[in-house]
Amino acid sequence: MTLTLTDVTLTYPDGDGRLTALDRVALDVPAGTLTAVVGPSGSGKSSLLAVAATLVAPDEGAVVVAGTDTAGLGRADKAALRRERIGIVFQQPNLLPSLTAAEQLQVMTHLSGRPAKAARSRALELLDAVGLAGQAGRRPHQLSGGQRQRINIARALMNDPALLLVDEPTSALDHERGAAVLDLLVTLTRQRSTATVLVTHDRTHLDRMDHTVTMLDGRLTAEVPA
Ligand code: ADP
Ligand code: MG
Repeated sequence: MTLTLTDVTLTYPDGDGRLTALDRVALDVPAGTLTAVVGPSGSGKSSLLAVAATLVAPDEGAVVVAGTDTAGLGRADKAALRRERIGIVFQQPNLLPSLTAAEQLQVMTHLSGRPAKAARSRALELLDAVGLAGQAGRRPHQLSGGQRQRINIARALMNDPALLLVDEPTSALDHERGAAVLDLLVTLTRQRSTATVLVTHDRTHLDRMDHTVTMLDGRLTAEVPA
């Protein structure tokens, strides 16, 4: 199992009390499979990804990523785990306006201290994989919203993560472009054997996911097929 959450509870301060964002959540995501998380706004979907990404430590329960129990890790070790094993795609691409598509990706290897030599060819390979061959020299304002989101996804794959966490990647896209991005995520999950967790509002493509789980008031339940 690339990602295992066991009995994960997460609370936030809320006035005089605490708000329970995750309530004894359990989730297993094997390599090469994609799990979709659906559920209403405020149900805890982004909190689930934040905990899996080791950005937020749970109050209770265990988060194991690629064989590493994250409870025992200090800040620096968590940062290293994120850099080397976890790819994160947020809703908004957050690309750097002055960099070309290829440079947006190359920055990732600079940050991780790997040899810059291979970074360029790796960046071009991934741009090709997300359908942006030939766009490597373009800057964000020269690209469409769908193309920017593809760069965002390619960037998350730069360090060959075992775990890929994706939060509502299609919310800024029209239906057709959103469908193409979901297709791409399924393909990349298979090709690169990532354990992928995808938060989505778009229920129309769930039949192509391996698993779908529903979040409601911080509780996770398996989707019952209609
Ligand atoms: P979703 O992604 O499903 O919309 P979230 O995980 O963002 O849900 O939020 C779950 C609950 O936790 C909501 O009630 C939200 O208001 C609350 N929440 C999220 N982040 C924080 C935070 N940093 N501090 C306090 N409350 C938060
Ligand atoms: Mg959210």
